Amino acid sequence: MGHQPTWLEAHSRMHDESIMSELTYPYSEHPMPGTTVEVAPGVRWLTMPMGGSLNHINLYLLEDERGWWVVDTGLSIPQTAELWHEIFNSELAGKPVVAVICTHMHPDHIGQSKMITDHFRCPLYMTRTEYYQAKAFSTMSMSQRANWLGQEFYERAGMPRDYLEQLRKLWERRSAEGMSMPEVPAGFRRLEDGDVLTIGGHDWRIVVGSGHSPEHACLYCAALKIMISGDQILPVITSNVSVHPTEPEANPLKVWMESHDRFLDTPADTLVLPAHNLPFYGVRERLRELISHHEDRMLAIEEHCVEPALAKDLLPVLFKRKLEPPQMMMALGEAIAHLHLLMHRNRIKRTLEEDGCYRFLSIDPDLERRSHPADHDAPNDAPVMV
Ligand SMILES: [Zn+2]
Repeated sequence: MGHQPTWLEAHSRMHDESIMSELTYPYSEHPMPGTTVEVAPGVRWLTMPMGGSLNHINLYLLEDERGWWVVDTGLSIPQTAELWHEIFNSELAGKPVVAVICTHMHPDHIGQSKMITDHFRCPLYMTRTEYYQAKAFSTMSMSQRANWLGQEFYERAGMPRDYLEQLRKLWERRSAEGMSMPEVPAGFRRLEDGDVLTIGGHDWRIVVGSGHSPEHACLYCAALKIMISGDQILPVITSNVSVHPTEPEANPLKVWMESHDRFLDTPADTLVLPAHNLPFYGVRERLRELISHHEDRMLAIEEHCVEPALAKDLLPVLFKRKLEPPQMMMALGEAIAHLHLLMHRNRIKRTLEEDGCYRFLSIDPDLERRSHPADHDAPNDAPVMV
């Protein structure tokens, strides 16, 4: 493991760059599993393992007078629990964990929340929607997932009749890999947008975003110029924004874009501590990049839909690789999210045809002027499962 810059080194390097044209990364590598790195006074960074191409999630510790606040917890797999016990023993300076915050309800964030809060008898802090969604999904059986709603959802998107059966096998495999919803603590303390938590003498403001998950909490500290962004703002990968069979008419990309607009207020010199990839400067650049990425994807979809198209037909427009069933599910959810925002903007019309499938057709008379088919971003490699 190479030299990790101290907090001061990292920040003075930042200060030198008066005009920031791209993202900068003060750390070149992740902390070793079972260890932590101080990224600011009282703020420590650690990672926990994840399967797949991502291989890690970043978690953070905030030091308070009486103990530590944990922000996000890792997957519900034995390896993560073991690593946590190493952290408890060697990295907490003999103090207990006094609270756990989960930014949102996904399994890599909430997986060990019950273990940690039971171990220390400390509270879990979450937004209300995330907590109850986690609780609902953690008790959802396979048969509840693979029901007629799911079947209809995928058939209308143009998928084969046995696709749900393929998915059922996928869920069983994912649950063996710790990607299913774990049991969550029996109660929680509610976080709301604008709440301020005082931790170790610093005020941390809760900033809520939506789209990747319904009520995702970020933590912003003006004094330290730090934002813990969860999956709301990631520097390299694009967070999954999907429509799912549980809410087939949802419009998550609309609130995702609105959230990006709101987060553009974040001061430009903020160090962003994301849940995946490395900490970075350049929050506004990244948000602008993400906004234009989704606008570009939507325009590419409109250009494709000058002839009526199935949702399934749009996968090659958005992703370049041949997709396996799990990726296919995420990819389809993303394609439908883009279509729903286009419908909301009156740029795409949806018709349910005799064959039980939706066809999508571009209807904006201004499309010809706006379109630039030769000029699009390359399709993404494959959707990211976070
Ligand atoms: Zn997530």
